[in-house]
Amino acid sequence: DVAMYAAKANGKGQVQTYHQGLLKADAPRLTFEWQLAAAAAAGELVIHYQPIVSLPNINCTGVEALVRWQHPERGLLFPGHFIEIAERTGVIVDIGAFVLRQACADAAAWQHAHAGIPLDVHVNVSARELDHDHFIDTVLDCLAATGFPAANLILELTETVILDAPVAIERVRALAAHGIKIAVDDFGTGYSSLTTLRTLPVDIIKLDMSFVAGALTNTVDRTVISAIVRMSAELGIETVAEGVERLDQQRFLEGIGTNAAQGYLYARPMPAASCARWLEGNLRDADASDDKMRGKS
Ligand code: C2E
Ligand code: MG
Ligand code: MG
Ligand code: MG
Repeated sequence: DVAMYAAKANGKGQVQTYHQGLLKADAPRLTFEWQLAAAAAAGELVIHYQPIVSLPNINCTGVEALVRWQHPERGLLFPGHFIEIAERTGVIVDIGAFVLRQACADAAAWQHAHAGIPLDVHVNVSARELDHDHFIDTVLDCLAATGFPAANLILELTETVILDAPVAIERVRALAAHGIKIAVDDFGTGYSSLTTLRTLPVDIIKLDMSFVAGALTNTVDRTVISAIVRMSAELGIETVAEGVERLDQQRFLEGIGTNAAQGYLYARPMPAASCARWLEGNLRDADASDDKMRGKS
């Protein structure tokens, strides 16, 4: 807009000034987009894993894969800085394929390390990825290559992703027919939560953290979240609460029968090596409490 203003004010040389201004203004953005397009191949994408735990016993049942970009100059960037751009430019297709492959490989290794425990891995999927003709093949190839069980792969989709394109609905059904599980992410924040449940084979509902945050202070949030959990139970859908930060939130969620929780109260998203150590600790604690219940300790 500065360039436009300068161009108008300058009169005669306006076209040239405008173009120079445009180039200058867009150079950093274009550089960022090119860097992002090359990031996966350059090995700059990193996956952090955040554990998901069962309620009320706090045993880890799975992890969510959350991508980060180790930018050469800007440091570790969170998805909020680049996912939208990746979706707009289409680079999300490559990023998504990388995340799927790496997450299944890491989770397969953790399953082996712990004698085949049924650890789930959750992977976020954008509309643009589901829209791509090769998406189903990408997912199936990834399972075949890593040996990771389909039943332990959960694709996290938002309501908008699912209902934006008719082809998306067919693809999600096809994936479900292969035994892959479907979670609706940020449930309750879109316009069509209930339609999603009528349209698709949903296995898991992720209760958005805004409801979790509001549950203890706001009557509407408390009523909505309780109703979603009750409805899910009747439909045979599991519930996972996102963004659990405090014990009073956990207590409330347990009270209404939420199946699982994820949040800083248990663990922050962390690199694969740290997650492997965290899993060992959590599984050891789970064994110890099983032994206690069987009277062994
Ligand atoms: P999401 O799938 O809803 O992921 C949950 C977000 O909440 C993550 O943010 C996580 O770090 C954050 N979080 C977890 N526990 C807590 C808590 O107790 N308190 C608070 N305040 N936040 C918590 P993150 O990692 O920045 O990711 C943001 C979003 O980016 C994700 O939201 C997801 O929509 C998207 N995303 C992340 N990785 C990928 C990916 O590989 N592909 C795609 N398409 N999208 C991704
Ligand atoms: Mg998610
Ligand atoms: Mg979410
Ligand atoms: Mg969210």
